[in-house]
Amino acid sequence: MMQIQRQPTRAVCVGDGLVIGGGHPIAVQSMAATRTQDVAATVRQVRLLEAAGADLVRVAVDSRQDVTSLAQVRQQTRVPLSVDLQESYRLAADVAPHVQKIRYNPGHLHHHEKQVPVADKVARLVEVAERHGCALRVGVNCGSVDPALTERFPAADAVSPIVASALEHCALLDRLGFARYCVSLKDSDPNHVIDANIRFAAQRPDVPLHLGVTEAGLPPDGIVKTRIAFEQLLARGLGDTLRVSLTVPFDNKGEEVRVGRQIIADVAAGRFQSVPRYLPQGLNIISCPSCSRVENEAFVDLAMRVAAATSFAREHRITIAVMGCRVNGPGETDGADLGLWCAPRFVNLKRGPELVGQFSYDEVVERLLVEVRRLVEERPLLPAEPACPGARAR
Ligand code: SF4
Repeated sequence: MMQIQRQPTRAVCVGDGLVIGGGHPIAVQSMAATRTQDVAATVRQVRLLEAAGADLVRVAVDSRQDVTSLAQVRQQTRVPLSVDLQESYRLAADVAPHVQKIRYNPGHLHHHEKQVPVADKVARLVEVAERHGCALRVGVNCGSVDPALTERFPAADAVSPIVASALEHCALLDRLGFARYCVSLKDSDPNHVIDANIRFAAQRPDVPLHLGVTEAGLPPDGIVKTRIAFEQLLARGLGDTLRVSLTVPFDNKGEEVRVGRQIIADVAAGRFQSVPRYLPQGLNIISCPSCSRVENEAFVDLAMRVAAATSFAREHRITIAVMGCRVNGPGETDGADLGLWCAPRFVNLKRGPELVGQFSYDEVVERLLVEVRRLVEERPLLPAEPACPGARAR
């Protein structure tokens, strides 16, 4: 079988059986979308992902009840587990005995304990990771970058703050003498993912990279966006582990793993489908893959209804973001023309950063369509493609 020529990175052990980086096979991972406290459903989801070929499965934890449930999930499953800590970084010591890897988001170390410097919080995470033999992932995400870094760069530059945040946290971890970490730089725009990873790797070629296009959305568009980013990066030898984020029903989550493996196999065999740059044409729907934090299980259905109801606008340059919860919803809908982010009983509808209103799950799509029709009036149709290249000249 042909192999992808990889850039050399250091090896990061995740538990006893998995190594990320150091020339080891690219690890494919996914994330449980079920509520962590629904132990039976989460065990089923973790096993489903393992059966689909996942090397590592991530589970979200936001409360002490989640930690208790995670411990039960650990007892009933075998695949290495990673825990996703967003604003709940203070639970690290509780979750560490049950997992092999901890993901923290640098942009979410600022909301709580404001009097404690971020460097001290990172030192706490490192102490916990060392005590329990866990690896760490510095997971930088476009929708939740440290505000001090976003202010340092022009508003139009989405990539520099992501890269700066990742480099800053690598420096913090290096100063603490902790090397068992990898880094991800995720954005919903594949071009940003490509640029951010290339720029980061140029400065830190030693650090293993976790690739991902966040909120890639529903298949097939979500697969296309992901493939474009991964083809460009894997072909350069970048990427030691990856996750494909798709908005699919829980029972279909194995598709994330199958798509990831297929892209790796295609790049290894020289089978490319992408053009050098991803130029969004027409309607662009961004939607998160959902996870245990999703506020209402109607989210996936909502994302599908949005895609179906807005298909009439496919020839217009409009971006709609559909997000499952308040953790990443408010920030990651700011940059879209229209955004929906879910609360337990209603959906927030936004026009850029401005809140239009809060609507029930039943009525929000109709209300969204009012906004979409307005944008369709304002934004002309994309120019039609000529029938053949010569048609333009004649
Ligand atoms: S937006 Fe919320 S529900 Fe969706 S993947 Fe992110 S954390 Fe999970």
